[in-house]
Amino acid sequence: MGGASYRYGSPPQRGAAGPDHGRDRGLTGSGRSAAGGCCSLLLRAGSADRRPMIELPERLLEEMVTHARREAPREVCGWLAGAEGRVREIHPVPNVADAPELRFLMEPGAQLAAMREIERRGLEIVGTYHSHPRTPADPSARDRSLALYPDLAHLILSLAGEEPELRAHRISDGRLKPLGLKVQ
Ligand SMILES: [Zn+2]
Repeated sequence: MGGASYRYGSPPQRGAAGPDHGRDRGLTGSGRSAAGGCCSLLLRAGSADRRPMIELPERLLEEMVTHARREAPREVCGWLAGAEGRVREIHPVPNVADAPELRFLMEPGAQLAAMREIERRGLEIVGTYHSHPRTPADPSARDRSLALYPDLAHLILSLAGEEPELRAHRISDGRLKPLGLKVQ
């Protein structure tokens, strides 16, 4: 399992697509928070090189981590708005699942309002995100079965380990396709 830490404040050049090792490899190396830093984050990539990428500004990642930690053990969820594979805004939507510590269900009214707001701002929905407070950042069977849009990026932020971990996938017909993730 390739994996590595991403540290807030580290140079932005390190994409999630590692060198061409031809096997499962993400970022390598490890990092700890700098003094005063918020936290470090583990980013993992899947096996395919030269796969599509999604870019996420670091400040949005921090927002996501802060939100997810605040709501844990309940999952948080929301839309990723942007254009051309780059996330420009995150739009949290309340989780109204009957067991929010196990799954998420976007509150329909807020979900629609967020979609309209994204459109009004001239952006498009490039993906969704949600947190896994106690489990790894892989889509659950339920996440896979509920993913209806194969072009969207599905970002999952796990708080299960020592450091937050973020993974990105596309999901088509219930099947996972790893998606490169670049935080900068
Ligand atoms: Zn999930």
